Amino acid sequence: MTALGSGVRAGRTTVVNWGRSASARPAEIVHARSVDEVVAVVRRARERGLPVKAIGAGHSFTDAALTDGVLLDVSAIDGVLAVDAARGRVVLGAGTNLHQLPALLAPHGLALANMGDIDRQTLAGATSTGTHGTGARFGGLATQLTAVTLVTAAGELLRVSESEHAELLPAVRLGIGALGVLVEVEVQCVPAYLLHAVERPAPFDEVLDGFLETAAANDHYEGYWWPSTATISTKTNTRLPADAPYRPLSALANWWEDEAMGSGALWLVSALGLAVPAVTPRINRLVASVYGNREFTAPSYEVFTSPRRVRFKEMEYALPAEALPAAVRELRRVIDERGWRISFPVELRVAAADENWLSTAYGRPSAYVAVHRYHREDHSAYFAAAEAILRAHDGRPHWGKLHTRTAADLAPAYPRFGDFLAVRDRLDPERVFANAYTRRVLGD
Ligand SMILES: Cc1cc2nc3c(=O)[nH]c(=O)nc-3n(C[C@H](O)[C@H](O)[C@H](O)COP(=O)(O)OP(=O)(O)OC[C@H]3O[C@@H](n4cnc5c(N)ncnc54)[C@H](O)[C@@H]3O)c2cc1C
Repeated sequence: MTALGSGVRAGRTTVVNWGRSASARPAEIVHARSVDEVVAVVRRARERGLPVKAIGAGHSFTDAALTDGVLLDVSAIDGVLAVDAARGRVVLGAGTNLHQLPALLAPHGLALANMGDIDRQTLAGATSTGTHGTGARFGGLATQLTAVTLVTAAGELLRVSESEHAELLPAVRLGIGALGVLVEVEVQCVPAYLLHAVERPAPFDEVLDGFLETAAANDHYEGYWWPSTATISTKTNTRLPADAPYRPLSALANWWEDEAMGSGALWLVSALGLAVPAVTPRINRLVASVYGNREFTAPSYEVFTSPRRVRFKEMEYALPAEALPAAVRELRRVIDERGWRISFPVELRVAAADENWLSTAYGRPSAYVAVHRYHREDHSAYFAAAEAILRAHDGRPHWGKLHTRTAADLAPAYPRFGDFLAVRDRLDPERVFANAYTRRVLGD
């Protein structure tokens, strides 16, 4: 076995992602220790006519990070490389895992402005697929990058920043691995802060009717609807200065929510549901009534992220924000009509409009609807039905999560799609960084 990212299982010849939803047999796996090594690997692969694909922590559900050519692991290119304390900007190795950041940024009193719900990904991998959290005033990780350095297909270093090749920034911050190998990223951080978290179950209609208003009125708002129930577990996080009173959960309360409920109960309902699907609605109702009813204050990264020990598959779509209530109601109707027993919640989040060309939130305030299924269950009918609904609401699929879209139907969904392809033609005319996924979603 080869050590790769935390989500990846790599046998002698086969690499499998975290969700066990994609695998590949690379011709070669290379662990680059330095930027020079990345340059050498790209040049050598090109000479041999082999494609190169950088992999992060293997947490994409799609085959975005896989190849039958040279699989390039840059996780050793990590840590802080430079700090601009006055502007709160930090240059980090692109292979840095998000879970390393609290310790790396603490000496500078800094933190990420927003995060998704886990911290296992690498900076490069997370930004490349448009990883996001929730917050109507906040964008995903890619919006927090002010510069990136990449190794291009020619084996040259290209730094893109607000003053160098600035026209490329909206493309390279979120490039699905198609424009080059990211080796450094500069992150616009914010002063470290606490989050006051209030988690409450609430009635389905009440939450959906007020979702956008509540999201607009709070820093970070999200919901988890448990299928077969009329309950949505809500999370409302309010930003507080770092010196505000700290009221963390006790170790026991934390264990109960994250391990016993978040992992143990979820595993139980998934495993039981697989064997006896009829019990799922009853367990969902039980979990929905006891899960997520607490209030605490802790450092931002502890509140944003949780461990995810039960493997699942996921599809997520970004919709124009105002479409969320109708779309979720349609999804509920379909699940009920088909009698599906779904053990995992449907996750509801929001993000501000942003300017990265392939961002799912490009040019419009967005709401995210994510469906999940235990990894051992067949997700295909459920995800197909959800995708039909979300697509009809002008949805854009998360690049790292399962979907069936192709370049032909994605192009009309992204006003700057053609500009992105033009940058790819310029930086990688021979498609050194192509794989099956980029061919599907971007074309040849
Ligand atoms: C349990 C779980 C929870 C998740 N939660 C969220 C969430 O809250 N919000 C959200 O938006 N997403 C979420 N995701 C999706 C995840 O954030 C994305 O799929 C992300 O891309 C994974 O990062 P990674 O480091 O594992 O990258 P990988 O999956 O390994 O790679 C992703 C892409 O980045 C490219 N890439 C990697 N490294 C480089 C590099 N150095 N240079 C150029 N390209 C590179 C790869 O080629 C690939 O195209 C979750 C996934 C899982 C499994």
